[in-house]
Amino acid sequence: DELISQIAAGEVVERPASVVRELVDNALDAGATQVTVRLLAGGVRLISVEDNGSGIVRDELHIAFKRHATSKIGNLQDLESVATMGFRGEALAAINSIADCAILSRASGESAAYLLDGRTGELSPVARSGGTTVEVKELFYSTPARRKFLKTDATELAHCVEAVRRHALARPDVGFAIWSDGKLVEQWRRCEHPDPMTALDQRLADVLGSEFVERSVVVNYRTSATRSDLTPTVRVWGRAGIPDAARSRADQQFCYVNGRFVRDKVLTHGARSAYEDVLHGHRQPVYALYVEIDPTRVDVNVHPTKIEVRFRDSREVHQAMRHGVEDALAAPRA
Ligand code: ADP
Ligand code: MG
Repeated sequence: DELISQIAAGEVVERPASVVRELVDNALDAGATQVTVRLLAGGVRLISVEDNGSGIVRDELHIAFKRHATSKIGNLQDLESVATMGFRGEALAAINSIADCAILSRASGESAAYLLDGRTGELSPVARSGGTTVEVKELFYSTPARRKFLKTDATELAHCVEAVRRHALARPDVGFAIWSDGKLVEQWRRCEHPDPMTALDQRLADVLGSEFVERSVVVNYRTSATRSDLTPTVRVWGRAGIPDAARSRADQQFCYVNGRFVRDKVLTHGARSAYEDVLHGHRQPVYALYVEIDPTRVDVNVHPTKIEVRFRDSREVHQAMRHGVEDALAAPRA
């Protein structure tokens, strides 16, 4: 079982940033409103993710490191429309097989907190407030070949920050902080504003800079259900940057599908077509675009890292991206 977990780990964990992503996913699934990430040596020596979410009750702590143990999905029907970030129950087991792990947790409503040592399985009482901290030390210590493929600490740190940034742009209602080697490197305060666009603008200003908000247009598009009331609608919203020769960066296109960060050619191509049509520019400017679609029309169960999706009707999504960005770019600006 240890070996199977290590093989699974190879698929799930490429570098410290992969661990950061999984742990932050879990914190968000637990309903956290504040997530603090602490790293040592770019995450290779330590990745600690602390949240104020629902926590894990004492008797269920040991299950967290078990393969295919998930509290999030009950049946096959759930798999059709997963609302949580995680659902495979593989991440923690995999990470625990290639690093020195511990979970500290206090479930909401409980008076005591416990620490579970991932190596020994021992449970001991600790003091902490409600929520969970997962600590991952010495990643790849047991697989030195893997460890050799890591880049410098600075590069691994940059990837970790990028992983948190992707989450942060999806969740303005959650506060994030990132510490590296004892220094606070990023802090994005939570915004509880009820209007999603207002909340997003604050988060975009914090994460991408106020210049981005100033040099971008609001996208707010919905496919019209013309054929019949049963035609599902696709919504695309967010902000699309106005190209700026000096500033464009290839790694700053953020696409989300139902709250998940994805890398998807259908979506990026749809956006690029809009820029080409309206501005005749071939550059991909910065954008943060959110696609909302009936969960049964998109398969997120394609890849263990969940960064790829498959649409049932990719044309409908491509069109929505293209028209959404086109309308926004073509609209007269104040
Ligand atoms: P998955 O997220 O796919 O369910 P994981 O391996 O990531 O699988 O986590 C296993 C289980 O551990 C989760 O289903 C959840 O019950 C529990 N868990 C992990 N992290 C947290 C957390 N931060 N807060 C509460 N529960 C957690
Ligand atoms: Mg998970």
